[in-house]
Amino acid sequence: MLADAAVFPRDKTCGDGLTPRAVGELQLLGLDDWLRAHAVNQGLRAHGFGQTLLLPWPGGNLPSWGSAVARTELDDHLRTTAIKSGATAVDGARAVDVRREGGRVAGVVFKTDDGPLEIGCRTLVVADGVRSPLGKVLGREWHRDTVYGVAGRSYVASELSDDPWISSHLELRDEAGTVLSGYGWIFPLGTGEVNLGVGTLATSKRPADLAISPEQVARVVALVGDGTLSVGLARQAVDGVLETGADVDTVVAERGLQRVSDVDALAAAVDEAIAAQPDVAEKIRAGKVAAAGALVGAVMKATRGQADAKTVRELILQKLS
Ligand SMILES: Cc1cc2nc3c(=O)[nH]c(=O)nc-3n(C[C@H](O)[C@H](O)[C@H](O)COP(=O)(O)OP(=O)(O)OC[C@H]3O[C@@H](n4cnc5c(N)ncnc54)[C@H](O)[C@@H]3O)c2cc1C
Repeated sequence: MLADAAVFPRDKTCGDGLTPRAVGELQLLGLDDWLRAHAVNQGLRAHGFGQTLLLPWPGGNLPSWGSAVARTELDDHLRTTAIKSGATAVDGARAVDVRREGGRVAGVVFKTDDGPLEIGCRTLVVADGVRSPLGKVLGREWHRDTVYGVAGRSYVASELSDDPWISSHLELRDEAGTVLSGYGWIFPLGTGEVNLGVGTLATSKRPADLAISPEQVARVVALVGDGTLSVGLARQAVDGVLETGADVDTVVAERGLQRVSDVDALAAAVDEAIAAQPDVAEKIRAGKVAAAGALVGAVMKATRGQADAKTVRELILQKLS
């Protein structure tokens, strides 16, 4: 059983890089060919302090190549691979609590649109990300006194998209020329785009000096929370704040980033996606509900991320049932 609060495909903040160790793990899942059809890189080009070093992946026990795949696509593909191997997936189910029997967890309580749902378990793997809400229910704590990483990423159209090297810029300076603790990266995706980002280290006493304030981040989170923005639209809103320095609401209004969940407004895009991929539509009609991800992805692309993925999915299943 694979339960997730999100509806797939879903976006997530990541540099999208896959090291040879990650490639090795994906090979064990039988995804070698799929991965090779995406970006393949041969090592790291490290820039900084007056020099550029080309550092090929060392090989040895690990593959001699790395890759980079947008996590919207990779995570969806991993999930589909798990489903094909026999897993049952439940989307849009937020784990909020557990039921204990004696000293062990015997069930997980989920909040869904159709009301609470409990799924019993013998073994529970909590893989709910860095904030780990269910982990917190089970006693996980964030050790705020330790150093943590703060990073931001963007997607940029670039001729470096097919570069066989991933790049790291190890010398970041602020406007006054002082060296910063962080680094920058350019990870070619082989799609015409690169994943471009910066990361730095911070502690609660010395928060990172970022171009977006904690209040602006909180506003974006609130807009995701009340359903105005999807995670993909939130990404565009943050990009807009970083580009223009305007506040979040202004960027959302000026760029028309509100999420569209109106069924009538989405019906045409759904019909087009179904017509463009009749083989996928046929699979869904035959009961392969997991195949809906491909059509949801097409609608998300056509609406530049504005469609509400959950509504789109429901609409697709309704039309093909
Ligand atoms: C800017 C940035 C750049 C990065 N770059 C790279 C990189 O280049 N390469 C790399 O390997 N790593 C990179 N990382 C790290 C990497 O993204 C994370 O380590 C990785 O995503 C963690 O995966 P995960 O499966 O633990 O969590 P996630 O991928 O976050 O998955 C957690 C899942 O749990 C779900 N969930 C959350 N709460 C609940 C709940 N209550 N109930 C049910 N489901 C829930 C979420 O919807 C989500 O799908 C980067 C991270 C950042 C922030």
